[in-house]
Amino acid sequence: MIEVMKCVGCGVTIQTENTKKLGYAPPSALEKEEVICQRCFRLKHYNEIQDVELTDDDFLRILNGIGQTDALVIKIVDIFDFNGSWLPGLHRFIGNNKVLLVGNKSDLIPKSVRPEKMIHWMKYSAKQLGLKPADVFLISSAKGHGIRQLAQAIDEHREGKDVYVVGCTNVGKSTFINRMIKEFSEETNNVITTSHFPGTTLDLIDIPLDETSSMYDTPGIINHHQMAHFVGKHSLKIITPTKEIKAKTFQLNEEQTLFFGGMARFDYIKGGRRSFVCYVSNQVNIHRTKLEKADELYREHAGELLSPPSPEELANFPELIRHEFMIREPKTDIVISGLGWITVNEAGAKVAVHVPKGVSASLRKSLI
Ligand code: GDP
Repeated sequence: MIEVMKCVGCGVTIQTENTKKLGYAPPSALEKEEVICQRCFRLKHYNEIQDVELTDDDFLRILNGIGQTDALVIKIVDIFDFNGSWLPGLHRFIGNNKVLLVGNKSDLIPKSVRPEKMIHWMKYSAKQLGLKPADVFLISSAKGHGIRQLAQAIDEHREGKDVYVVGCTNVGKSTFINRMIKEFSEETNNVITTSHFPGTTLDLIDIPLDETSSMYDTPGIINHHQMAHFVGKHSLKIITPTKEIKAKTFQLNEEQTLFFGGMARFDYIKGGRRSFVCYVSNQVNIHRTKLEKADELYREHAGELLSPPSPEELANFPELIRHEFMIREPKTDIVISGLGWITVNEAGAKVAVHVPKGVSASLRKSLI
């Protein structure tokens, strides 16, 4: 019989295979008398939380649970990958609870863009996607921008209720929670623990806000259309911006192509000479060529001239799938989830993007 080990901290079943999944503990930890999962270990010793991935089912159960409680919901999205990090079903589950929408990673957006404009855009986009947040905030958890104001707003909006923080993986939720722990622990001097969430196998990080209420961190859901799930570590490091993005403008004639390393390709098909503004990580090389030569160039030079992916990653790199779009509105972004976007200022362009199979490509009203 296989013995099932449980974490003495949160009760989750211990596994040693996947560092990102719930219940991970390094094999050496199993030799101890009391086994504790890495998440609880970090929490206990460093007062720091670590994100775990969870299944869609567990996530839905949590959302349902939140809908049945009277609470304030903080929804975090990655402003660099707004559509890719949006949790589509959220508003259907959370009942009448108020939502504060938080755009994280504001430090990546060019400084010339006014925050008010971004917030306006976030409100508009949220509405389009079916969510009416009580308020919208722009923050940088990494840099600490906007954190204090948000903490104050949370205190006002929650009216004494509990707070649930939700967001998909990689939006910076852990970084955010660690900031909040600092903000709120000064006031309460309370210890962070985990609380059992009814109906799931999960325990949520519990940050006491006052005598009777807490902020809970829910595990990040995996959003299946993000580039992060299809590319290797090396590529991911290059395509994920860490600094303010510098816009790159290209004047293109019809039938010209841009390659974003070998990760994606943009074909300008029809609509007269015009400019396209690219917002991708500064480390991604943009290579211009003729449309008629693009297939051959990719076949022969992906992994070298067109990299990332690295030559080693190329073998497992998904094939590129073509999506064609007609730009009918001025100021439209063509978005490649996790890689960035291309802004088209005037309507009337026919374009196509080629993205790794499984990654989403879409149009939206311009962010910038
Ligand atoms: P989680 O998976 O949502 O918990 O996200 P993490 O907190 O682990 O962060 C995911 C990645 O985003 C990490 O590489 C962080 O360094 C980065 N990150 C988090 N917050 C910010 C931010 O405000 N700005 C930038 N540029 N990067 C951030």
